[in-house]
Amino acid sequence: MTAPTIERIETCLVDLPTIRPHKLSVATMHGQTLMLAKVYCSDGVVGIGEGTTIAGMAYGPESPESMKLAIDTYLAPAMIGKDATRIQALMAHLGKLVRVNHFSKSALETALLDAHGKRLGVPLSELLGGRRRERLPVAWTLASGDTVKDIGEAESMLDARRHKVFKLKIGAKEIKTDIKHVAEIKKALGDRAAVRVDVNMAWSETQAAWAIPALADVGCELIEQPVASAAALSRLMGRFPVALMADEILQGPETAFEIAKHAGADVFAIKIEQSGGLFAAQRVAAIADAAGIELYGGTMLEGAFSTIASAHLFSSFSNLQWGTELFGPLLITEEILTKPLDYSDFELTVPNGPGLGIELDEAKLKRWTRDGLVKVTA
Ligand SMILES: [Mg+2]
Repeated sequence: MTAPTIERIETCLVDLPTIRPHKLSVATMHGQTLMLAKVYCSDGVVGIGEGTTIAGMAYGPESPESMKLAIDTYLAPAMIGKDATRIQALMAHLGKLVRVNHFSKSALETALLDAHGKRLGVPLSELLGGRRRERLPVAWTLASGDTVKDIGEAESMLDARRHKVFKLKIGAKEIKTDIKHVAEIKKALGDRAAVRVDVNMAWSETQAAWAIPALADVGCELIEQPVASAAALSRLMGRFPVALMADEILQGPETAFEIAKHAGADVFAIKIEQSGGLFAAQRVAAIADAAGIELYGGTMLEGAFSTIASAHLFSSFSNLQWGTELFGPLLITEEILTKPLDYSDFELTVPNGPGLGIELDEAKLKRWTRDGLVKVTA
């Protein structure tokens, strides 16, 4: 029997509205754009992968548009005719042809894994060694920019039993204003909820050294990426007992190893796209485990496809001490799946069907797709 090969790859940009503006220290998002890649194989199987960023190029070097360009022009032509079942070998081949472009590669690897799971009739998590948990805790990000609104939003999430861990996006305002914001939210929620912050690299080392103990005093349990540099984060680790998490500086296994070597973080926010795909993220998790660094399942505010690809991977981790923040699809107002994801009792259910285990609603996709499809074929 000959192995199925890749026949064509389609990419599109899907512009979706969000439930409210999402304010981060780097930008304010008013919508979300997904780059979807469909990989069509000679055995009739089609896999779908997603590439998504936070606020275009405000967060990092790749944008949905640049991912589409990298795939259409460089990556997809190199995949046509190749064995669709030898995913690691194919991704290694693409790694030689195109440097970095982690998000684009993650989208294609997700699509190949989705297709292969469908082909074998098993969930994607089986291709990663099998899941250890069926459901994942999901934190919510409060980022309206207004303390009273954020408290109201947190209360409604607690009432609906959707989230009981809240991450506050800070760093754009004066430090004292931000600390007051965190203190008021923690005071309002009390023991009913955990409060964490993400500074998205906004502080200098001296600002962070002033703010970290103040945040701990008001009940903040985890501080994500307070400073931009790995060296500064490592020095802060030595000064303060409160848990510090690396996110932006974690760009795949090599950076993970460097951070681990210098005891540069208590926790890693693992993201499949930032790592360069699911297998790369798996290696990041292995490095963390070996170094005694705890794990948190991060998001690029992705839609359903990358969210569920991440869920399959995170479900297979031996450690996931800080849960996940896989809430991206809940920030988007439009459902693009035929059957919505199950968010209930503060957790997300990892789907059980073949591949990703979710189905795209093609009519909905068409409605929100920008400029139609681009096809790359032999
Ligand atoms: Mg972050």
